[in-house]
Amino acid sequence: MPKEYLRPEPLENEHSFRALRPRSLDEFVGQDKVKERLRIYIQAARERGEPLDHVLLLSPPGLGKTTLAYIIAQELGVRIQVSSGPAIERPGDLAAILTHLEKGDIFFIDEIHRLRRQVEEVLYPAMEEWKLDIVIGEGPHARSIRLDLAPFTLIGATTREGLLTAPLRDRFEVIFRLEYYSPEELAEIIRRAGERLGIEVSPEGAMELASRSRGTPRIALRLLKRARDVAQVEGKGIVDLKVARRTLELLGIDDEGLDPLDRKILEIIIDRFDGGPVGLETLSAALGEDKDTVMEFYEPYLIAKGFLRRTPQGRVATEKAYQHLGKPAAKLF
Ligand code: ADP
Repeated sequence: MPKEYLRPEPLENEHSFRALRPRSLDEFVGQDKVKERLRIYIQAARERGEPLDHVLLLSPPGLGKTTLAYIIAQELGVRIQVSSGPAIERPGDLAAILTHLEKGDIFFIDEIHRLRRQVEEVLYPAMEEWKLDIVIGEGPHARSIRLDLAPFTLIGATTREGLLTAPLRDRFEVIFRLEYYSPEELAEIIRRAGERLGIEVSPEGAMELASRSRGTPRIALRLLKRARDVAQVEGKGIVDLKVARRTLELLGIDDEGLDPLDRKILEIIIDRFDGGPVGLETLSAALGEDKDTVMEFYEPYLIAKGFLRRTPQGRVATEKAYQHLGKPAAKLF
């Protein structure tokens, strides 16, 4: 189903993308302000021989949070331990990871907003003073002991800033927000990936795919792979403008980079709910899609492109959405 190629979350079989990950800050395209600050913090930490302060990475999926965590470890010359909020089920799981960290190591927790409360509470003293409180025994004989941990750096990543608890958020000294990428930046990412994968990509072909990748490197790379297939079967083996356009057509991506589900979201709001406002629950039910998927993956881009607005009463289609879908503005505002 084409739809899933456009979703920014990783697919099961995307291991081949790992080889495409940039390995240094210099190779990491775009996000200049983030890189500028990071270079300074990394150099300062290295010179002092201290761990980097805890870092929180915020962005919609597919914009490079995981990649950046690996790069930070690489630039610091330290090891990285990777986990995710839902994978750390019990405080004991967290304790097992923390006690194996060495001085300066990076501990990366993806989807950190999904940490369980009990687990999160173990993390607070670990982040603040490198201490681990463990309870031994049960009932009246239970007692708590405090262990020393090696000073480490926690890098947390989340697509849902609003779901982070205040105490957790407050314990991060450095917060980076990754922005959607420009078409030029995405074209550069496509060009470099093409080189690594041995795919010939023309500048026009790269730009065409880039401008319809929802500002998201993961989607740009996926489109490149699909374009490679089209180039092989229908073209001359080169991802040029014609091949890029054909690929996008096959996937149902329009000139604003909207996919069929994006358009369906706007259509439902306009046709069934008179342009809105409509609540997220109702909208998701009408779409037959999971609420989180709509909120995390679809809405941010529609909002960033000015097709949708979030209001306290619900989601509203904008004038631009009516125009894009060729619908007469139904309401006079
Ligand atoms: P996130 O963790 O935010 O979901 P990832 O770090 O997994 O995103 O990035 C998705 C893919 O996009 C990776 O395969 C990576 O190769 C590529 N990528 C992300 N950001 C960049 C960038 N700035 N430059 C080059 N490639 C990037």
